[in-house]
Amino acid sequence: ATIKKIKERGGSAISALTADDHERLNRKALIERRLIHALDKKNLEVLYQPQINLKTGDVEGVEALVRWQDTEAGIVSPDELIPIAEENGMIHEIGKFVIETVCRQLKDWTSRNIPMNVSINSSIREFRDKDMARLFMEHLTINGCDANRLTIEITEKFALEAEAEHSIVRQMKQLNQKGISFSLDDFGTGYASFRYMLLLPISSLKIDKDIIQSITQQEKMQKLINGMIQFGKSLDLQVVAEGVETKEQLELLRVMDCDSIQGYITGHPMTANELETWLKHS
Ligand code: C2E
Ligand code: MG
Ligand code: MG
Ligand code: MG
Repeated sequence: ATIKKIKERGGSAISALTADDHERLNRKALIERRLIHALDKKNLEVLYQPQINLKTGDVEGVEALVRWQDTEAGIVSPDELIPIAEENGMIHEIGKFVIETVCRQLKDWTSRNIPMNVSINSSIREFRDKDMARLFMEHLTINGCDANRLTIEITEKFALEAEAEHSIVRQMKQLNQKGISFSLDDFGTGYASFRYMLLLPISSLKIDKDIIQSITQQEKMQKLINGMIQFGKSLDLQVVAEGVETKEQLELLRVMDCDSIQGYITGHPMTANELETWLKHS
């Protein structure tokens, strides 16, 4: 109401903010305040979503996805959380938490003879830290994990920016030499510049879920997705379709010879315990 009054009076700079803006800023401030607390108490969680080979039906690995439910902020989805954390720098702490959690989980699975590969999502801001490669290697070493079990997912936007940042390219190559793979996430949503393919050690691409979900809508979309799959294959990349929800989508992807899928149709993101039960029944 105050804002409206200021506006009616002709308004100063602050009057440019709508009630919606204020709500958003308040929410952001709340998330930032609570996130410091949550990171301190390690109150975040990591869920794992299986990725399935379309030909063999084998589980190729799982993607680690961060989850946060707070007593004051409620459920904060990664789509809300990650951009805020990228902006204020807390993404470094979230990344550390996820890497630490995943490596400890890998150690546990290895000790109980559950072979598993895990993908971790990384933001470019995390890789602007010169010690990012060391952070990954330290946690793998401490937990006696095989680096070949780890994949790092980066977005097209990340790849485009990383191309011009030597320290990031160097760290990616270092990690790749140690056995860590890189996957290009949300493929098809960025820009059609593929020079980074020459420079970065990328071995798989994940076609974005919004694109996959429009596969049944138009014939042209099918041709586009088929083109993306063949594009990946011609570069010897493993092609993964993400966000597969229906049998119809799955069958189309099978005909197009897509390598693997990840989506609700085969399994939602789940806790490590739920995943183990799921593995027994899959
Ligand atoms: P992403 O890496 O593309 O992850 C796939 C997203 O699709 C996940 O959303 C997953 O839960 C969702 N998904 C999987 N299958 C289906 C499906 O069949 N239907 C639908 N509608 N959705 C499906 P989520 O977990 O909410 O994560 C969103 C994004 O947040 C991720 O997209 C990733 O970019 C980012 N993110 C998540 N965890 C982390 C993290 O630990 N670090 C960083 N830097 N980013 C993360
Ligand atoms: Mg991902
Ligand atoms: Mg994705
Ligand atoms: Mg996404």
